[in-house]
Amino acid sequence: MRARLRQLFRLAVATDAEATRGPDGTWTTRCLHCRTRLQVAADGEALGGSSLEHVVPQAWFGLRAAAALTAQVGDDRDDPRNLAVACRRCNQDKGKGPDAKGPQDARAHAVVAALLAKRLGRWRLPPAGSG
Ligand SMILES: [Zn+2]
Repeated sequence: MRARLRQLFRLAVATDAEATRGPDGTWTTRCLHCRTRLQVAADGEALGGSSLEHVVPQAWFGLRAAAALTAQVGDDRDDPRNLAVACRRCNQDKGKGPDAKGPQDARAHAVVAALLAKRLGRWRLPPAGSG
């Protein structure tokens, strides 16, 4: 897996209040969508069905209709507040549904806004030495 992607995974779990670390450094957390148990290796490698979710879709950044959402993550698609671990299947379903419809679609906007609120509700500052 690319080094940058592993770095983003590490950021996502380090700032996820529901993520815990095992003795070998493996992170265990729950899918942002369905709460399935997911794991990420200490080096940020995705384990099992884990995938990296951009809560506000990357393609929405810079779009006026998404401005209220992107502002909540500093208008940076890779800000840790916009990153979460999700099942590959949940992530793909979101990509084919709300993400694809775009922020001008009221339903898609509401789905992403709710998901972002969930992510921000699980926010924590990264524990020391987790990077
Ligand atoms: Zn899921």
